[in-house]
Amino acid sequence: MTPGDEVVVALDVGGTGMKCALVRPDGATVHAERHATDAARGPEAVVGTILDVAEGLAGKARADGLTPVACGIAVPGVVDEARGVAVWSANVGFRDVPLRDLARERLGLPTALGHDVRVGGLAEARLGAGRDAGHVLFVAIGTGIAAAHVVDGSAAVGAHGAAGEIGHILVRPDGPPCGCGRPGCLEAVASASAIGRRYAELSGAPATAAEVADRAAAGEPLAGRVWREAVEALADGLATGQALFDVATIVIGGGLAQAGPRLFDPLRTALRERLTFHREPRLVAAALGDEAGCLGAALLALDTLAKESR
Ligand SMILES: [Zn+2]
Repeated sequence: MTPGDEVVVALDVGGTGMKCALVRPDGATVHAERHATDAARGPEAVVGTILDVAEGLAGKARADGLTPVACGIAVPGVVDEARGVAVWSANVGFRDVPLRDLARERLGLPTALGHDVRVGGLAEARLGAGRDAGHVLFVAIGTGIAAAHVVDGSAAVGAHGAAGEIGHILVRPDGPPCGCGRPGCLEAVASASAIGRRYAELSGAPATAAEVADRAAAGEPLAGRVWREAVEALADGLATGQALFDVATIVIGGGLAQAGPRLFDPLRTALRERLTFHREPRLVAAALGDEAGCLGAALLALDTLAKESR
């Protein structure tokens, strides 16, 4: 076996789909496939699919003359990385699923279980837009908002597996209700879904966040107002993040980052206005797209492997 033959079986499990890959230790993807999660079948069926897909990938690697050395799985929600347990997930339905041990038993490979945004941040910090920064805050903005704080290539997990919930920073005490049950959280104002919802509420017509960004850029006053409100709330959240973490680079990922300069130009200005003595971080778009979770799951598995072999 030469080192070039080694691959990691990597899965990024979301509420609707699973991104799966065989990843080399240098981060190169040698094979990728996608499967439906179909979460409506219930958590047991989803776990069955995860194990089947992982086993299939390990088999595919061997058939191609490669050597699977580890397995990394990323899932949303609350994840206890130390115990390898998917503690809770609203969109996949996990409740205390010992996914790491289940996969280790099925595949016979060292396995790591990670949080989807945290491993995505790991990948962006080590291989993507935060490369060479050392201290990185990765913020994923989509239906919700979550973050990962990565220092020297390692993402903080938190005492209870719930670090990085920047979407639940209180930014507007009188704001709209958040899914967590409290009003005024950042994600209730500035997530892609919140932007669409707010625009629909004021205009009476449905729109996606991307459409709101387009209409704001075209000069529609209502869209401009909704977009500005979201950007200002985001800047409030990021300023809090910078006060806490003092990072060199903030990497914005998720669907909203695709708005490009329409997001980044006003957000950079609004963030600058809010910083006093804190140093301004570089604010950049994520570079790895929706592959970040899979790559990060592979990196986490390799980290675990390195620790175990020490
Ligand atoms: Zn909340």
